[in-house]
Amino acid sequence: MDFVLYCKLELGTAVPDYGTGSTCVLLTGVRQEDFAESAFDKGVQAYIIEADIDLSTLGFCNDEECACRTKLREVWIKLTLASDNNGQTWVYRAFAGGPPEKFNVLNIEIVSGPQLPDFPDSEDVEFEGGASTPYSLSGFEVGQGMASLVYNSSFGYLADAGAGTPIKRPAYLLTSFVSDLLALLNTRTNKFFLSHADSDHWRMLVWDGRIETRVSEFFVPSGMKPLVFFDVTVKSRTRRWSAPHVSVPLYSGQKLQIMRTAPAHPTSNNDGLILLFEDGAELGLLPGDCVYDEIVADANAHVNSLAGKSYTAIVVPHHGDAASAHGVPPSSAASKAFFSAGNHTTYLHPTLASTNAHSLAGYTNLVNKTPAYIREVPLM
Ligand SMILES: [Zn+2]
Repeated sequence: MDFVLYCKLELGTAVPDYGTGSTCVLLTGVRQEDFAESAFDKGVQAYIIEADIDLSTLGFCNDEECACRTKLREVWIKLTLASDNNGQTWVYRAFAGGPPEKFNVLNIEIVSGPQLPDFPDSEDVEFEGGASTPYSLSGFEVGQGMASLVYNSSFGYLADAGAGTPIKRPAYLLTSFVSDLLALLNTRTNKFFLSHADSDHWRMLVWDGRIETRVSEFFVPSGMKPLVFFDVTVKSRTRRWSAPHVSVPLYSGQKLQIMRTAPAHPTSNNDGLILLFEDGAELGLLPGDCVYDEIVADANAHVNSLAGKSYTAIVVPHHGDAASAHGVPPSSAASKAFFSAGNHTTYLHPTLASTNAHSLAGYTNLVNKTPAYIREVPLM
């Protein structure tokens, strides 16, 4: 029998976790019975699809950077699949940790469908204030993705949970695979903040249930509705974040500031959340993929004032792309710039321009493009 999924496009040129091709189309989707607004309100069963399809058959071009790609992300794509052990389209349930199934694509078409509802607002959030031990900030070597953690002995604030090439799901699910991040999350109560909707910032979260079960609340930037957060596993714990600025007291002299950017011209990278870890006079910046030029230009005063400060640690925006070489903020003593990038063959992050610019600004660059496991990199 045919298997039908109603899908959202996540990435047109993803490096596959399973397929043998150099790229695949990454989609997220639901079955027919979940394809209604009321189902998304309650929570659906979300699927991750690595599809062997050609987007040009839908009348769109194959250029990831083309303006038509934004339009293609807004529509529903109906995939009709047939089970086939030699198929090159791989499907698995989000958060379930199970093996993928293989399919052949019988048909692909654009269909009309429900609007995704808003997540409930986050105004009445209870933060874990008054904890008894000081907090640290670490980055993690996740390959082409991003994940950072502000944590003490009891609590963690997880900023993104993305991983990518060379870190792939089959290896990650092996019991022998080492993730320093999982080890930390497992012994803490954690809150999750999504910087923006791009899959390289949440992909590891849906690989299985091990991160999700350690998270009490998921905060997604207002206006963003990644399909996977409607999965019944996490939907009831997911909130939209619209507050321009909230300062969370952590420990004596330490706080975590959470900011919602207000870009004049929103793109997938400048529209989202920026986190700032303060430890006395020392600052650690977690800008997601929002580069410095976008931070300076942002309409939120809490965001644009970040540009004038000096930092002890930065998780370099947008994995150290070419734009992240501009407007690098000043360093303070012994400052670290952590580049979260893998061995993606076309992104080629980080760029030499970005690593040079951070060196020139006085940062010690920390970069490992070929991690064999998810190693913790202490930053503050
Ligand atoms: Zn990214």
